[in-house]
Amino acid sequence: MTDIGFIGLGNMGGALARRLLKDFTLYVWDLNRSAVEVLVDEGAIAADGPDGVGASGADFIITCLPTSAQVDEVIFSSNGLVSTISSGALIADMTTGDPMLTKNMAARLVKNGIDLIDAPVSGGVAGAEAGTIAIMIGGPAQLFEKAKSVFEAISPNIFHAGEVGAGHSMKLINNMISSCIRLATFEGLALATKVGIEPIRFAEILAKGSARGYIADTTLPTHIIPGRLEQGFGLALMHKDLMLATKLGQDMKAPLTTGNYAREVFQMALNELGEDVDISQIIKIFERAAGVDICEAQQSFQR
Ligand code: NDP
Repeated sequence: MTDIGFIGLGNMGGALARRLLKDFTLYVWDLNRSAVEVLVDEGAIAADGPDGVGASGADFIITCLPTSAQVDEVIFSSNGLVSTISSGALIADMTTGDPMLTKNMAARLVKNGIDLIDAPVSGGVAGAEAGTIAIMIGGPAQLFEKAKSVFEAISPNIFHAGEVGAGHSMKLINNMISSCIRLATFEGLALATKVGIEPIRFAEILAKGSARGYIADTTLPTHIIPGRLEQGFGLALMHKDLMLATKLGQDMKAPLTTGNYAREVFQMALNELGEDVDISQIIKIFERAAGVDICEAQQSFQR
Protein backbone atom coordinates (compact mmCIF):
# COMPACT_ATOMS: atom_id res chain seq x y z
CA MET A 1 0.00 0.00 0.00
CA THR A 2 1.14 3.55 -0.76
CA ASP A 3 2.84 5.39 2.08
CA ILE A 4 1.95 9.07 2.24
CA GLY A 5 3.89 12.16 3.24
CA PHE A 6 1.87 15.10 4.55
CA ILE A 7 3.27 18.61 5.00
CA GLY A 8 1.09 21.30 6.63
CA LEU A 9 -1.06 20.15 9.54
CA GLY A 10 -3.08 23.29 10.31
CA ASN A 11 -6.86 23.60 10.58
CA MET A 12 -7.48 22.07 7.13
CA GLY A 13 -4.30 20.04 6.66
CA GLY A 14 -4.73 18.39 10.07
CA ALA A 15 -8.33 17.42 9.31
CA LEU A 16 -7.39 15.95 5.90
CA ALA A 17 -4.38 14.08 7.31
CA ARG A 18 -6.54 12.62 10.05
CA ARG A 19 -8.86 11.02 7.49
CA LEU A 20 -5.92 9.49 5.58
CA LEU A 21 -4.49 8.05 8.79
CA LYS A 22 -7.32 5.52 8.88
CA ASP A 23 -6.08 3.85 5.66
CA PHE A 24 -2.43 4.79 5.16
CA THR A 25 0.91 5.11 6.92
CA LEU A 26 1.51 8.86 7.16
CA TYR A 27 4.86 10.69 7.49
CA VAL A 28 4.12 14.23 8.67
CA TRP A 29 5.88 17.59 8.96
CA ASP A 30 4.79 21.08 10.04
CA LEU A 31 6.69 24.07 11.44
CA ASN A 32 4.27 23.97 14.35
CA ARG A 33 5.55 21.16 16.58
CA SER A 34 2.32 20.82 18.52
CA ALA A 35 0.39 20.20 15.28
CA VAL A 36 2.84 17.35 14.54
CA GLU A 37 2.50 15.92 18.04
CA VAL A 38 -1.31 15.79 17.79
CA LEU A 39 -1.08 13.69 14.61
CA VAL A 40 1.70 11.48 16.04
CA ASP A 41 -0.49 10.74 19.05
CA GLU A 42 -3.07 9.49 16.55
CA GLY A 43 -0.61 7.18 14.74
CA ALA A 44 1.33 9.33 12.24
CA ILE A 45 5.14 9.20 12.05
CA ALA A 46 6.98 12.51 12.56
CA ALA A 47 9.58 13.49 9.96
CA ASP A 48 12.33 15.98 10.82
CA GLY A 49 11.72 18.36 7.91
CA PRO A 50 10.48 18.30 4.32
CA ASP A 51 13.62 16.34 3.39
CA GLY A 52 12.71 13.81 6.10
CA VAL A 53 9.29 13.34 4.46
CA GLY A 54 11.04 12.81 1.11
CA ALA A 55 13.52 10.34 2.65
CA SER A 56 10.73 8.28 4.24
CA GLY A 57 10.17 6.51 0.92
CA ALA A 58 6.60 7.82 0.64
CA ASP A 59 5.88 8.25 -3.05
CA PHE A 60 2.65 10.24 -2.65
CA ILE A 61 3.27 13.52 -0.87
CA ILE A 62 0.60 16.04 0.05
CA THR A 63 1.17 19.70 0.84
CA CYS A 64 -1.51 21.82 2.54
CA LEU A 65 0.15 25.14 3.37
CA PRO A 66 -1.05 28.76 3.61
CA THR A 67 0.16 29.86 0.14
CA SER A 68 2.12 28.65 -2.89
CA ALA A 69 5.19 30.48 -1.52
CA GLN A 70 5.45 27.94 1.32
CA VAL A 71 4.81 25.08 -1.12
CA ASP A 72 7.73 26.29 -3.23
CA GLU A 73 9.86 26.48 -0.07
CA VAL A 74 9.10 22.94 1.16
CA ILE A 75 9.76 21.51 -2.30
CA PHE A 76 12.79 23.47 -3.56
CA SER A 77 14.70 24.86 -0.52
CA SER A 78 18.02 23.27 0.48
CA ASN A 79 16.25 20.89 2.90
CA GLY A 80 13.23 20.60 0.62
CA LEU A 81 11.51 17.54 -0.79
CA VAL A 82 13.54 17.51 -4.01
CA SER A 83 16.74 16.88 -2.04
CA THR A 84 15.53 13.38 -1.01
CA ILE A 85 12.35 12.40 -2.85
CA SER A 86 12.50 9.50 -5.32
CA SER A 87 11.99 9.93 -9.02
CA GLY A 88 8.46 8.79 -9.93
CA ALA A 89 6.88 10.33 -6.82
CA LEU A 90 3.71 12.42 -7.03
CA ILE A 91 3.17 15.66 -5.07
CA ALA A 92 -0.47 16.67 -4.62
CA ASP A 93 -0.84 20.27 -3.49
CA MET A 94 -4.03 20.75 -1.46
CA THR A 95 -3.15 24.37 -0.63
CA THR A 96 -5.45 27.02 -2.09
CA GLY A 97 -2.64 28.16 -4.34
CA ASP A 98 -1.73 30.37 -7.26
CA PRO A 99 -2.40 28.52 -10.54
CA MET A 100 0.49 30.27 -12.32
CA LEU A 101 3.02 29.35 -9.61
CA THR A 102 1.65 25.80 -9.54
CA LYS A 103 2.21 25.38 -13.29
CA ASN A 104 5.70 26.79 -12.85
CA MET A 105 6.54 24.34 -10.01
CA ALA A 106 5.17 21.39 -12.00
CA ALA A 107 7.38 22.35 -14.97
CA ARG A 108 10.48 22.72 -12.75
CA LEU A 109 9.91 19.25 -11.23
CA VAL A 110 9.88 17.48 -14.59
CA LYS A 111 13.69 17.27 -14.67
CA ASN A 112 13.61 15.41 -11.32
CA GLY A 113 11.07 12.91 -12.69
CA ILE A 114 8.51 14.14 -10.15
CA ASP A 115 4.89 14.99 -10.95
CA LEU A 116 2.91 17.74 -9.25
CA ILE A 117 -0.86 18.12 -9.36
CA ASP A 118 -3.09 20.66 -7.62
CA ALA A 119 -5.87 19.27 -5.44
CA PRO A 120 -7.43 22.07 -3.36
CA VAL A 121 -10.55 21.47 -1.30
CA SER A 122 -13.81 23.21 -0.50
CA GLY A 123 -16.26 22.53 2.30
CA GLY A 124 -14.44 23.75 5.40
CA VAL A 125 -12.90 21.83 8.28
CA ALA A 126 -16.36 20.45 9.08
CA GLY A 127 -16.60 19.03 5.54
CA ALA A 128 -13.15 17.45 5.84
CA GLU A 129 -14.04 15.87 9.18
CA ALA A 130 -17.38 14.61 7.86
CA GLY A 131 -15.78 13.10 4.73
CA THR A 132 -17.85 15.24 2.35
CA ILE A 133 -15.34 17.86 1.24
CA ALA A 134 -14.99 18.61 -2.50
CA ILE A 135 -11.53 17.93 -3.96
CA MET A 136 -10.78 19.55 -7.35
CA ILE A 137 -7.78 18.17 -9.18
CA GLY A 138 -5.67 19.79 -11.88
CA GLY A 139 -3.38 17.42 -13.79
CA PRO A 140 -3.24 14.78 -16.51
CA ALA A 141 -5.94 12.07 -16.50
CA GLN A 142 -3.61 9.25 -15.36
CA LEU A 143 -2.41 11.29 -12.36
CA PHE A 144 -6.00 12.16 -11.53
CA GLU A 145 -6.79 8.42 -11.36
CA LYS A 146 -3.72 7.74 -9.18
CA ALA A 147 -4.63 10.56 -6.79
CA LYS A 148 -8.29 9.55 -6.71
CA SER A 149 -7.38 6.16 -5.26
CA VAL A 150 -5.80 7.96 -2.28
CA PHE A 151 -8.28 10.82 -1.93
CA GLU A 152 -11.20 8.40 -1.70
CA ALA A 153 -10.12 7.97 1.92
CA ILE A 154 -10.95 11.66 2.43
CA SER A 155 -14.19 12.08 0.47
CA PRO A 156 -16.09 10.62 -2.49
CA ASN A 157 -16.47 14.12 -3.96
CA ILE A 158 -13.39 14.14 -6.19
CA PHE A 159 -13.45 16.09 -9.47
CA HIS A 160 -11.08 16.42 -12.40
CA ALA A 161 -11.02 20.19 -13.06
CA GLY A 162 -8.58 20.04 -15.99
CA GLU A 163 -4.83 20.36 -16.53
CA VAL A 164 -2.31 21.45 -13.86
CA GLY A 165 -3.48 24.75 -12.31
CA ALA A 166 -7.16 24.18 -13.15
CA GLY A 167 -7.88 22.89 -9.63
CA HIS A 168 -6.43 26.06 -8.13
CA SER A 169 -8.29 28.29 -10.60
CA MET A 170 -11.54 26.48 -9.80
CA LYS A 171 -10.95 26.84 -6.06
CA LEU A 172 -10.17 30.57 -6.30
CA ILE A 173 -13.33 31.19 -8.32
CA ASN A 174 -15.33 29.14 -5.81
CA ASN A 175 -14.00 31.18 -2.90
CA MET A 176 -14.61 34.45 -4.70
CA ILE A 177 -18.25 33.46 -5.20
CA SER A 178 -18.68 32.24 -1.61
CA SER A 179 -17.13 35.49 -0.29
CA CYS A 180 -19.58 37.59 -2.30
CA ILE A 181 -22.46 35.50 -0.94
CA ARG A 182 -21.07 35.79 2.59
CA LEU A 183 -20.95 39.59 2.42
CA ALA A 184 -24.45 39.92 0.91
CA THR A 185 -25.88 37.49 3.48
CA PHE A 186 -24.26 39.23 6.46
CA GLU A 187 -25.50 42.60 5.21
CA GLY A 188 -29.01 41.12 4.85
CA LEU A 189 -28.87 39.55 8.32
CA ALA A 190 -27.95 42.90 9.89
CA LEU A 191 -30.89 44.56 8.11
CA ALA A 192 -33.32 41.76 9.02
CA THR A 193 -32.25 41.98 12.67
CA LYS A 194 -32.78 45.73 12.63
CA VAL A 195 -36.23 45.27 11.10
CA GLY A 196 -37.03 42.98 14.05
CA ILE A 197 -36.91 39.56 12.41
CA GLU A 198 -35.55 36.85 14.71
CA PRO A 199 -32.05 36.05 13.35
CA ILE A 200 -32.49 32.26 13.45
CA ARG A 201 -35.86 32.60 11.69
CA PHE A 202 -34.08 34.68 8.99
CA ALA A 203 -31.55 31.84 8.51
CA GLU A 204 -34.27 29.16 8.38
CA ILE A 205 -36.27 31.01 5.74
CA LEU A 206 -33.19 31.92 3.70
CA ALA A 207 -32.03 28.28 3.72
CA LYS A 208 -35.27 27.21 2.01
CA GLY A 209 -35.59 30.07 -0.47
CA SER A 210 -33.80 31.32 -3.56
CA ALA A 211 -30.85 32.74 -1.54
CA ARG A 212 -30.13 29.36 0.08
CA GLY A 213 -26.61 27.95 0.32
CA TYR A 214 -23.80 27.07 2.74
CA ILE A 215 -23.68 30.50 4.39
CA ALA A 216 -27.45 30.46 5.03
CA ASP A 217 -27.86 26.85 6.13
CA THR A 218 -24.57 26.29 7.98
CA THR A 219 -22.55 29.43 8.72
CA LEU A 220 -25.43 31.50 10.13
CA PRO A 221 -26.97 28.94 12.53
CA THR A 222 -23.69 27.30 13.58
CA HIS A 223 -21.41 30.30 13.97
CA ILE A 224 -22.82 33.77 13.40
CA ILE A 225 -26.15 33.80 15.24
CA PRO A 226 -24.95 31.94 18.38
CA GLY A 227 -21.80 34.13 18.40
CA ARG A 228 -19.42 31.17 17.94
CA LEU A 229 -17.07 33.14 15.71
CA GLU A 230 -14.61 30.31 15.06
CA GLN A 231 -15.02 28.46 11.76
CA GLY A 232 -11.39 27.30 11.54
CA PHE A 233 -10.58 29.43 8.49
CA GLY A 234 -8.50 32.58 8.76
CA LEU A 235 -9.77 35.92 7.45
CA ALA A 236 -6.28 36.50 6.00
CA LEU A 237 -6.43 33.20 4.07
CA MET A 238 -9.69 34.24 2.39
CA HIS A 239 -8.25 37.65 1.59
CA LYS A 240 -5.30 35.83 -0.04
CA ASP A 241 -7.77 33.82 -2.13
CA LEU A 242 -9.57 37.00 -3.23
CA MET A 243 -6.26 38.63 -4.16
CA LEU A 244 -5.37 35.59 -6.30
CA ALA A 245 -8.85 35.33 -7.87
CA THR A 246 -8.96 38.99 -8.86
CA LYS A 247 -5.40 38.82 -10.19
CA LEU A 248 -6.45 35.84 -12.31
CA GLY A 249 -9.36 37.94 -13.60
CA GLN A 250 -6.94 40.73 -14.53
CA ASP A 251 -4.53 38.34 -16.21
CA MET A 252 -7.37 36.80 -18.24
CA LYS A 253 -9.04 40.20 -18.92
CA ALA A 254 -12.26 38.89 -17.32
CA PRO A 255 -13.95 41.73 -15.37
CA LEU A 256 -14.75 40.80 -11.76
CA THR A 257 -16.74 43.75 -10.44
CA THR A 258 -18.32 41.87 -7.51
CA GLY A 259 -15.16 39.89 -6.76
CA ASN A 260 -13.04 43.05 -6.60
CA TYR A 261 -15.62 44.65 -4.31
CA ALA A 262 -15.46 41.63 -1.99
CA ARG A 263 -11.65 41.80 -1.94
CA GLU A 264 -11.78 45.44 -0.83
CA VAL A 265 -14.27 44.67 1.98
CA PHE A 266 -12.00 41.87 3.18
CA GLN A 267 -9.06 44.32 3.12
CA MET A 268 -11.09 46.73 5.28
CA ALA A 269 -11.90 43.90 7.68
CA LEU A 270 -8.25 42.84 7.89
CA ASN A 271 -7.20 46.41 8.71
CA GLU A 272 -9.87 46.71 11.36
CA LEU A 273 -9.87 43.24 12.92
CA GLY A 274 -6.24 42.17 12.43
CA GLU A 275 -4.45 39.39 10.56
CA ASP A 276 -5.06 36.54 13.00
CA VAL A 277 -8.82 36.43 13.30
CA ASP A 278 -11.28 33.84 12.02
CA ILE A 279 -13.27 34.66 8.87
CA SER A 280 -16.57 34.63 10.79
CA GLN A 281 -15.46 37.79 12.66
CA ILE A 282 -16.25 39.83 9.54
CA ILE A 283 -19.87 39.92 10.79
CA LYS A 284 -18.66 42.58 13.28
CA ILE A 285 -18.15 45.03 10.41
CA PHE A 286 -21.79 44.69 9.38
CA GLU A 287 -23.10 44.78 12.97
CA ARG A 288 -21.20 47.99 13.64
CA ALA A 289 -22.31 49.58 10.36
CA ALA A 290 -25.98 48.82 11.05
CA GLY A 291 -25.79 49.35 14.83
CA VAL A 292 -27.04 45.88 15.78
CA ASP A 293 -25.80 42.98 17.93
CA ILE A 294 -27.08 39.81 16.25
CA CYS A 295 -26.23 37.37 19.04
CA GLU A 296 -27.82 39.66 21.63
CA ALA A 297 -30.89 40.12 19.40
CA GLN A 298 -31.28 36.34 19.12
CA GLN A 299 -31.02 35.93 22.89
CA SER A 300 -33.68 38.58 23.42
CA PHE A 301 -36.12 36.41 21.40
CA GLN A 302 -35.40 33.48 23.72
CA ARG A 303 -35.94 35.39 26.97
P1 NDP B 1 -3.45 27.07 8.97
O1 NDP B 1 -2.95 28.45 9.00
O2 NDP B 1 -4.42 26.59 10.00
O3 NDP B 1 -2.20 26.04 9.00
C1 NDP B 1 -1.06 26.15 8.20
C2 NDP B 1 0.01 25.29 8.83
O4 NDP B 1 1.16 25.27 7.95
C3 NDP B 1 0.49 25.85 10.17
O5 NDP B 1 0.60 24.80 11.12
C4 NDP B 1 1.84 26.45 9.81
O6 NDP B 1 2.74 26.47 10.89
C5 NDP B 1 2.30 25.49 8.75
N1 NDP B 1 3.37 26.04 7.90
C6 NDP B 1 3.46 27.30 7.40
N2 NDP B 1 4.56 27.40 6.63
C7 NDP B 1 5.18 26.19 6.67
C8 NDP B 1 6.36 25.66 6.08
N3 NDP B 1 7.14 26.41 5.30
N4 NDP B 1 6.69 24.37 6.35
C9 NDP B 1 5.90 23.59 7.14
N5 NDP B 1 4.77 24.05 7.73
C10 NDP B 1 4.41 25.32 7.49
O7 NDP B 1 -4.04 26.85 7.49
P2 NDP B 1 -5.20 25.86 7.04
O8 NDP B 1 -4.82 24.46 7.36
O9 NDP B 1 -6.52 26.41 7.45
O10 NDP B 1 -5.11 26.09 5.45
C11 NDP B 1 -4.14 25.44 4.64
C12 NDP B 1 -4.56 25.68 3.20
O11 NDP B 1 -5.85 25.13 2.99
C13 NDP B 1 -4.64 27.18 2.84
O12 NDP B 1 -4.15 27.39 1.54
C14 NDP B 1 -6.12 27.48 2.92
O13 NDP B 1 -6.49 28.56 2.07
C15 NDP B 1 -6.71 26.14 2.46
N6 NDP B 1 -8.07 25.90 2.93
C16 NDP B 1 -8.42 26.03 4.24
C17 NDP B 1 -9.73 25.84 4.64
C18 NDP B 1 -10.16 25.95 6.07
O14 NDP B 1 -11.38 25.88 6.32
N7 NDP B 1 -9.24 26.11 7.03
C19 NDP B 1 -10.78 25.54 3.66
C20 NDP B 1 -10.30 25.30 2.33
C21 NDP B 1 -9.00 25.52 1.98
P3 NDP B 1 2.89 27.85 11.74
O15 NDP B 1 1.55 28.10 12.35
O16 NDP B 1 3.95 27.53 12.73
O17 NDP B 1 3.28 28.89 10.73
